[in-house]
Amino acid sequence: MNHGHDTHESAIRMAQLGLYVDYHRHDLYTGPAFGVFAALVLLTWHPWWVVLPWFLATVAAAFFADHRYRGLPADGDGTLERYWSRRIALAHAPHMLIWASLVLWAWVPGDPLNHLFIILISAGGVAATAAMSSPHRFVFGVDMLLIVPALARPLVEGGTLYYGIAGLAAIFCVLMFGVGRQVHVNVNAMLRLRRDKDELIAELEHLATTDPLTGVLNRRRFWELAQEEFSRARRYQRALSLLVLDIDHFKNINDTHGHPVGDQVIRTVAEFCIDTARSTDVVARLGGEEFAILLPETPLANAETVAERLRQMIGSSPIGVGDLLIPLTASIGVAELDAEDADFDALVLRTDRALYEAKGAGRDRVATG
Ligand code: GH3
Ligand code: MG
Ligand code: MG
Repeated sequence: MNHGHDTHESAIRMAQLGLYVDYHRHDLYTGPAFGVFAALVLLTWHPWWVVLPWFLATVAAAFFADHRYRGLPADGDGTLERYWSRRIALAHAPHMLIWASLVLWAWVPGDPLNHLFIILISAGGVAATAAMSSPHRFVFGVDMLLIVPALARPLVEGGTLYYGIAGLAAIFCVLMFGVGRQVHVNVNAMLRLRRDKDELIAELEHLATTDPLTGVLNRRRFWELAQEEFSRARRYQRALSLLVLDIDHFKNINDTHGHPVGDQVIRTVAEFCIDTARSTDVVARLGGEEFAILLPETPLANAETVAERLRQMIGSSPIGVGDLLIPLTASIGVAELDAEDADFDALVLRTDRALYEAKGAGRDRVATG
């Protein structure tokens, strides 16, 4: 089992904890509401000053648990999982314990109605938690450890009636464990599907926006970002420049050394572009051996400096591909957005024209438009 797998499993268990917490958020409301019902019935057997402390304790436990659940991260590593499973167990356990305590605390010896009522509450607590929780094993274990033994209380009374009550409670719980198990299995399958879907979406997004050869943005994503930068530059009247680079006589490289060497040259030029650009610049491969760098907040003179630096980087020394040393030059067109440009295409047009000029003037140069 590799580490990546562990991390995935741990993320799933964190998601289980998240669901457990979600399901138990309702305790904040149902806990006190059930508490009122239980307290009213318990007044049949006990004076108010015995019932009230129990009721206040169950309300306090619900608030305590809810408070302790807050801040659970959506996912996390193994350390976080251990931390949160303990934290949640120690928050929910008192709540369960206070309900389970009824079996000892409110039990009136020799009163079958009282016994039936209390066992109903206890078995109900077990069943609700087992069926709803799709639980994390540790948290579920702590809950059940506390409340299940309480169901054995009628056995202490002895006699057919009490064995019957205990038996019914046991059957009820076993059925609910089965339901809980099924919920747990289904929820896990759902969590796994959700994780796979998220991974697929991330992968598809990467594939849809990135050029596979060089790892820089592809034309499509470049176009999206360019529209955004164009709108921003227009709205706030900021400078925006565009630089388009085309490798000179690239066909010769392919013809002389073959396509794979050509690919490697394209990769190297992409790296030069990335090294030259700032983090806020947008670097993309437009296609073939043509690259674009969009430079926000950059006036023409600065963009020209960037282009010149890039041209020299490419042209100053031959590029090593395996044992080969390949001399390389590139031509670059640069233009800045101006007030007359109706849309981003207008800037592209002028940049392309500048590139064409650079080619026409003998290549290995920067031209502005
Ligand atoms: P210049 O730009 O200086 O006018 O000449 P050029 O030889 O570079 O001309 P052109 O832009 O027309 O040629 C581009 C060549 O790039 C043609 C095509 O076979 C090649 N090419 C396009 N995409 C790839 C690629 O992904 N890998 C490789 N190795 N070659 C590619
Ligand atoms: Mg070319
Ligand atoms: Mg070209």
